[in-house]
Amino acid sequence: MSKAMTRDIDTSRTAVTDEVAIEISGMNKWFGSFHVLRDIDLTVHRGERIVIAGPSGSGKSTLIRCINRLEEHQSGRIVVDGIELTNDIKNIDKVRSEVGMVFQHFNLFPHLTVLENCTLAPIWVRKTPRRQAETTAMEYLEKVRIPEQAGKYPGQLSGGQQQRVAIARSLCMQPRIMLFDEPTSALDPEMIKEVLDTMIELAEDGMTMICVTHEMGFAQAVAHRVIFMDQGQIVEQNNPHDFFHNPRSERTRLFLSQIL
Ligand code: ADP
Ligand code: MG
Repeated sequence: MSKAMTRDIDTSRTAVTDEVAIEISGMNKWFGSFHVLRDIDLTVHRGERIVIAGPSGSGKSTLIRCINRLEEHQSGRIVVDGIELTNDIKNIDKVRSEVGMVFQHFNLFPHLTVLENCTLAPIWVRKTPRRQAETTAMEYLEKVRIPEQAGKYPGQLSGGQQQRVAIARSLCMQPRIMLFDEPTSALDPEMIKEVLDTMIELAEDGMTMICVTHEMGFAQAVAHRVIFMDQGQIVEQNNPHDFFHNPRSERTRLFLSQIL
């Protein structure tokens, strides 16, 4: 874990609402005969920010990939913004347009400029006119503080800048929910803070967020709830203060002793 300091969040504009954004109940997933997610129950409210922690291989990525159907679950229910994820491709498309995802390795298109990365999906998926897509993209590039990089290619940017482009690209689709899968794990320490600060600003805008991360400073500052996973199960969940200071399970305690 890096010791990147994150500033305190301004919570004046953020509130967790009663409205359910994501409802997962009795969900199980197998990879062949390997039971990777076990009886997952998780309700996320609109405006809520959740950090998922847990050892490597515990199923964190698979869980959040199930939320936008990058992975298919085999039993139980996943409902996102009132839309149940089934094999119905219409539902999957609808959910994907509501849910943005940012990955550890940025996944930018290397042969497209920063601006083109940001306008591709709005133009081709949303059918937004190019001029309008570019205006929106520039607004989000300003928000992540790299408008001057718009004409460059991803390979010309630092890792932290690339990850901020990836965040801006997601935001260009105007998602209601953002999923982050270890967004700072591939970054050099000096770049972690700039990405975390971008995520904090999103939090301050009231975005519903699920972040898989080992940045516990970020979790303490930003999360309403920390979820600990081990061996495909949600072992424990609590507000950050109690999660870190008073973990209930032995497995959580052991994990925290290794990363803190
Ligand atoms: P985490 O993100 O917590 O490190 P993952 O969700 O990536 O864990 O993986 C959970 C388990 O599922 C691991 O044992 C991993 O090897 C396995 N796994 C992940 N993806 C696949 C896949 N496509 N096929 C088979 N096994 C997989
Ligand atoms: Mg993972």
